[in-house]
Amino acid sequence: SLSDRLQDTFDKLRGKGKLTEDDINSAMREIRLALLEADVNYRVVRDFVAKTKEKCLDAEVLESLNPTQNVVRIVLEQLTELLGETESALELAPHRSPNVIMLVGLQGSGKTTAASKLAYLLKGKRKKPLLAACDTHRPAAADQLETLGAEVGVEVYRGDGKDAVRVARESVDVAREHGCDVVIVDTAGRLQIDEEMMQEAVDIKRAVDPDQILMVVDAMGGQDIVNVVSEFSARVDFDGVIMSKLDGDARGGGALSVRAVTGKPIKFASMGEKPDSLEVFNPDRMAKRILGMGDMYGIIEQAEKLSSEKDLADAERMLMQGFTMDDMLAQMRNIRKMGGVQKVLGMLPGMERAVQKQGATVDDSQMVAIEAMIHSMTKKERQDPTIIDGKRRRRIAQGSGHTPQEVNQLYKQWEQMEKMMGSVRGLINQGNTRKTAR
Ligand code: GDP
Ligand code: MG
Repeated sequence: SLSDRLQDTFDKLRGKGKLTEDDINSAMREIRLALLEADVNYRVVRDFVAKTKEKCLDAEVLESLNPTQNVVRIVLEQLTELLGETESALELAPHRSPNVIMLVGLQGSGKTTAASKLAYLLKGKRKKPLLAACDTHRPAAADQLETLGAEVGVEVYRGDGKDAVRVARESVDVAREHGCDVVIVDTAGRLQIDEEMMQEAVDIKRAVDPDQILMVVDAMGGQDIVNVVSEFSARVDFDGVIMSKLDGDARGGGALSVRAVTGKPIKFASMGEKPDSLEVFNPDRMAKRILGMGDMYGIIEQAEKLSSEKDLADAERMLMQGFTMDDMLAQMRNIRKMGGVQKVLGMLPGMERAVQKQGATVDDSQMVAIEAMIHSMTKKERQDPTIIDGKRRRRIAQGSGHTPQEVNQLYKQWEQMEKMMGSVRGLINQGNTRKTAR
């Protein structure tokens, strides 16, 4: 993946210590290839690499104490800039009721899913949304919206189910009658851009005069994302993008192009099929995810949702001071509590990679094994696993009913995570991250 490729590039630089111009040039070549392979638009890649290279070749960077860390910081900054720098809020007109949000995009991009998630998110902000089923082309479309609407407890207006423009117009009246303050208009898409779909979107837009038009873009789509988005931009125009399916393995290739090509902000990221998996898009976080720095803020936020002040304090200590075996165990338990192992693994620095490299995922039986091995360690060993030598390893293996090789594997996993935590820590200590963990 893009993350892996970039991390490999940085690993190579780290191995060198001092960096020469040649080192930077070859790193930039690798980054260029990695971005192109991740389907980032070639013009975007060209500009990105040129700018990043110029900054990295600065004498101050090359002669600094830790040049690689500075290169990583520069790439992070440039990626963040490419993604839009700051969060871009949903703008609704304060004195208009109902507000209207219209979703457009190709078929299968995730509009209907995003509509229900957006409704859920707005409900959480004490709004009363109404979903309007304006995809009248596929018979099952309104049913799908109704099912999703019921899941999040939001009313769905279907009208006659035939005339999309009319359903849209009526939904605004229905919202008023029912005291709803936001209408979310779900529209039809085609597999490819087609004239009829564009015209219908334009007609709906004219009929309901949306406060916001959001284009839903599938992050898994390749190079042609740019064409599709440009086409919509020219015909219906829109205010921002919802990047869907960012939980897949595309990891940002599309997201990296969209902003640069259209100048339109990415407002939300859809990270799964569950109702609560729509997040306000945060460029800094996304850039860190792409660089495999892990999303400590995401983890902390997740932890905040379900757990105590203590967990928050732990997260901060772990990041700033050191990462023990106990931390690793607690993390793994928490991951399971938070659900969606893969999702949270992706946020943890180095975790996903460490797990992938060993060709394994953390399943139930592994979890049991990990717990047994960590419990067989002494307190001292858990605090500072580097003291585990051959003799200790054999003892831990025996005590837990596992092999020394398994203990070693666990140690390697810990080592990898500790190393990753270390690099994030390094960045924060340098004062180069804008926010710090609370
Ligand atoms: P529409 O045709 O644009 O309305 O797309 P849908 O909302 O029906 O979504 C198409 C498919 O993608 C469905 O199977 C959804 O469950 C799935 N999907 C939508 N958003 C996401 C997402 O963020 N992550 C994942 N993994 N799947 C999604
Ligand atoms: Mg749909």
